[in-house]
Amino acid sequence: MKLELRGITKRFGSLTANDGIDLVVEPGEIHALLGENGAGKSTLMNVLFGLYQPDEGEILLDDVPVHFKGPGDAMAAGIGMVHQHFMLIPVFTVAENVMLGHEPTKGGVLDLATARRRVREISAQFGFDIDPDAVVGDLPVGVQQRVEIVKALSRDARVLILDEPTAVLTPQETDELMVTMRQLAEAGTSIVFITHKLREVKAVADKITVIRLGRVVGDADPAASSQELASLMVGREVELTVQK
Ligand code: ADP
Ligand code: MG
Ligand code: MG
Repeated sequence: MKLELRGITKRFGSLTANDGIDLVVEPGEIHALLGENGAGKSTLMNVLFGLYQPDEGEILLDDVPVHFKGPGDAMAAGIGMVHQHFMLIPVFTVAENVMLGHEPTKGGVLDLATARRRVREISAQFGFDIDPDAVVGDLPVGVQQRVEIVKALSRDARVLILDEPTAVLTPQETDELMVTMRQLAEAGTSIVFITHKLREVKAVADKITVIRLGRVVGDADPAASSQELASLMVGREVELTVQK
């Protein structure tokens, strides 16, 4: 699904966290949103997911303007979100978490049997080894991350937002996530990949949008050097001694 954000502005009191942000993500594209901590990446995605109402701007899916009153609307329209901090309930099983989704008030859309079946189907599709009846809090962090992805896909997400998904992963789990992202994109899912890690962006992104202090400051090619990307991110020339 094609995603377009036009002129998104979001203010928190006197702070303008997003200042007229434009972003286009084509179907099946992995689009990295690169920016330093506080640049406004999560705010933008929270607007897209219906958690915040924008002060200005609009969201279009396949060129049709949409209005999300909450995450339930966004999910129904095909937006899936893997939050920076997992939204899983540790004492529940994988299937129970999938059944409940993100919003307790909108839970029960899937019944438990369907949730278990969807966990098995999606796990098989991506080569995940996830037991639908495992208690989430007992699972390693890397597997919990995959449960979040399964949860989003179980609701037929066609745009998947991954907000700093590798923050808690080991290098091997990170590499595996890159493979999963590629598989998803090949299946037509559009991915917004939020990170500040240049190595990951260069490894997996088709396109890069760099934001700084709430504004888009440039587009970059994944072939750009880490030096160039880092300079765009921070807004001045930087010399990298270590490629990160
Ligand atoms: P990033 O995800 O790029 O690290 P955020 O979108 O989380 O950045 O934050 C952008 C700016 O907006 C930061 O200055 C942050 O402190 C502020 N901010 C984010 N969420 C809120 C909120 N709910 N209320 C007030 N300020 C917020
Ligand atoms: Mg942050
Ligand atoms: Mg963030």
